[in-house]
Formats: sequence, structure tokens, C-alpha cells
Amino acid sequence: MRARLAGVAGDVREAALAQRLAVWGWRCWVCGRPYEALDHVKPLSVGGAHLPCNIRPICTTCNNVKHNKWPLTAVMAAVKTTTAKERVTGLRERLQAV
Ligand SMILES: [Zn+2]
Repeated sequence: MRARLAGVAGDVREAALAQRLAVWGWRCWVCGRPYEALDHVKPLSVGGAHLPCNIRPICTTCNNVKHNKWPLTAVMAAVKTTTAKERVTGLRERLQAV
């Protein structure tokens, strides 16, 4: 995990990033399934910062849907309909793990 965080995060301090991911329970911020990537909520391509405050954990499915959409309302509109099934699946997985 340590190498993964450092490799993906570039110059973002590992401890700050881990703390940021912990806020989201190490799960996708959109659907709640285990995270597989780091998301710049405001994409770097539209001026988003490479700082912990702009980074959240995300799963591959939601990351593919979100891509580089911005503003956040466009992101939420895209993921709202396409990830509903993933949200239900993620919730089911979490309940089974309890
Ligand atoms: Zn997700």
C-alpha cells in the first residue's frame, strides 16, 4: 500500500494522503466499494490541485464514469445513474462483511 500511495500520489505526502483516504474509510467516495485508484475530484486537466484536499479514493468503475468531468454537479449527474447498481452491490458487500 505504501508504495502504491507514493507512486500514484507523486509529491503529495504519504501521511496526508493516507489520512485523506481514511476519511473516506478507504472506500470509493462515490459508491462505497473498496477503492482502486485515487481521484482528483477537480481534474488536473481543468486546474484541479494535486493536494490532499482534492484527492479521494475511487473504484475503477466510478473513475471510468467520472473521467475528467467538471464541475462537481456534472460529476454527480454522471455517477448518479450509472453507479446506482454499484452502490447497492457495495452496500451488500459491506453488510455481508459485518
Ligand atoms: Zn465506486
